[in-house]
Order: sequence, then structure tokens, then C-alpha cells
Amino acid sequence: AVEAKRVHKAFGDLHVLKGIDMKVMPGTVTVILGPSGSGKSTFLRLINQLETLTGGEIDVNGEMIGYKRLADGTLQTLNDKEVAAQRAKLGMVFQKFNLFPHMTALENVMEAPVHVKRMPKAQARELAAKELTRVGLGDRLDYYPSQLSGGQQQRVAIARALAMKPEIMLFDEPTSALDPELVGEVLGVMRQLADEGMTMIVVTHEIGFAKEVADQVVFMDGGVVVESGGPGIIDDPKEPRFKDFLQHVL
Ligand code: ATP
Ligand code: MG
Repeated sequence: AVEAKRVHKAFGDLHVLKGIDMKVMPGTVTVILGPSGSGKSTFLRLINQLETLTGGEIDVNGEMIGYKRLADGTLQTLNDKEVAAQRAKLGMVFQKFNLFPHMTALENVMEAPVHVKRMPKAQARELAAKELTRVGLGDRLDYYPSQLSGGQQQRVAIARALAMKPEIMLFDEPTSALDPELVGEVLGVMRQLADEGMTMIVVTHEIGFAKEVADQVVFMDGGVVVESGGPGIIDDPKEPRFKDFLQHVL
């Protein structure tokens, strides 16, 4: 589970997140919707400790991220190794896939298991082939990124994250950079992951995906959660700001 409690984030004078509360239960999919600049990426980056909190708390699988509480109740910052161990529970997929261009799909997926987990190469190769097959790329193992479509490259990026055996997957607009005809194959892989029981937090503008796959939909605007609930809120929004947003994206 991921639990955000009164999460605040400021960059200097810019107060981006103003008290976000959110609970994502194991094996469920939460879709975060919201206009540009509402703080969606910042929130995902906080969960993955790519940014540090200004206030509040985030727990991942019951453990507070970034800090530990000492016997006297004070908080101590975790060291790099402890942070790395927490981050290993999370897989993240970005809008830009950032594959290594000089490595094949297989080598891209093997990279972290070999260099971060020190997995023997033969074993990593087997794992990478399995994860690439899982995302429908079993016949593209030896292709370089430049030889793959955007949708295929993004599926390699998903396989790369899965190869690290995350407990939770974070997606930040994974289909926004793709040509329209390639969006479906990536959403299909994400839907399959959801069906397999992966815990997922997905920032996307794909309303159809949200309606069909999400267990929880959260609409953020101006650094706060304006409305949240089951996927039914998309067809029956209560808050004017959410209504307005839906009219513009649909
Ligand atoms: P989009 O839909 O465009 O991706 P978003 O909801 O993901 O938007 P964020 O990227 O989280 O929005 O940004 C929220 C606000 O925080 C923006 O005003 C942005 O300029 C600001 N911001 C984000 N990262 C930083 C940073 N490292 N330093 C300063 N300001 C930042
Ligand atoms: Mg963003």
C-alpha cells in the first residue's frame, strides 16, 4: 500500500502540493487526473524519493519513506543504502522512456539486475527475456531502441522496471509522447499488469483507461485533491473544477 498523509511540497516560494491525502491499497490501481502544473509528477517523484517532502508523511507498505523514528520519537533521515532499499520496492515509468540507445532491448532490461542487484548475467538474460515476453516483445529481444516503435520502446521501459521485481508501479503519463495508434498497446500491457494484481499509481489523461481499469480515481488541481472516488466519478463528477477538466479532455 501507499499512504500519503498531509503531504506538502514547496520549491522555494512555490507551494506545489498543499496537503495531499491518498491511500492506495495493495493490488489496486489509482489513476491521478489533473491539469498541467497541478503537481501530479511531483507527487509521484516524492513517493519514489526523487524529491524530498516539505511536510507530511508517505508510507510505502507500512514503512515511512525517507526517515526512521527513533526510540525517543524524533525522526532521523535514512542513509543512502536505506533509501535505495525503499526505492527498490517501486518501479517507475516516465513519459520519455530513456532507453540506452547502444543496447538491445534485452541488454536494456538486463542492465539493472546485473549492475544494481549483481545478478549473474545468464540469469539476468533469462529474466529479461521473460519480462520482455510478458510485455509482448519476445520476438524483439535483440532489437535496438532505434529499431523499435515508440510503443515498443515504452514496453521495453515497462519490462525494465518489472525486471527489478517492484511491489508497486508508478506511471507518469506513459503514453503522452506516443503517436495515437501506439497508445493502445502500452495501455494493454498496463491493463494486463493490473489484472495480474500489481499495485499501480498512474498519472494519465486516458480517461477510457481510468474508467475501465482504475479502482480509485483522484482529481488533483492546484496542489490539492479536489475530488476522489471510484471510477464512477468520471461519469458523475461533483466538483465544478473536475467537471470543467473532464469537458476539456474528453
Ligand atoms: P503536467 O501535467 O504538465 O506534467 P504536473 O501536474 O505533473 O503537470 P508538476 O510537474 O508536478 O505538475 O509541477 C507542478 C509545479 O511545480 C509546476 O508549477 C512546476 O513548474 C513546479 N516544479 C516542478 N518541479 C520543480 C522543480 N524541481 N523546481 C521548481 N519548480 C518545480
Ligand atoms: Mg507531470
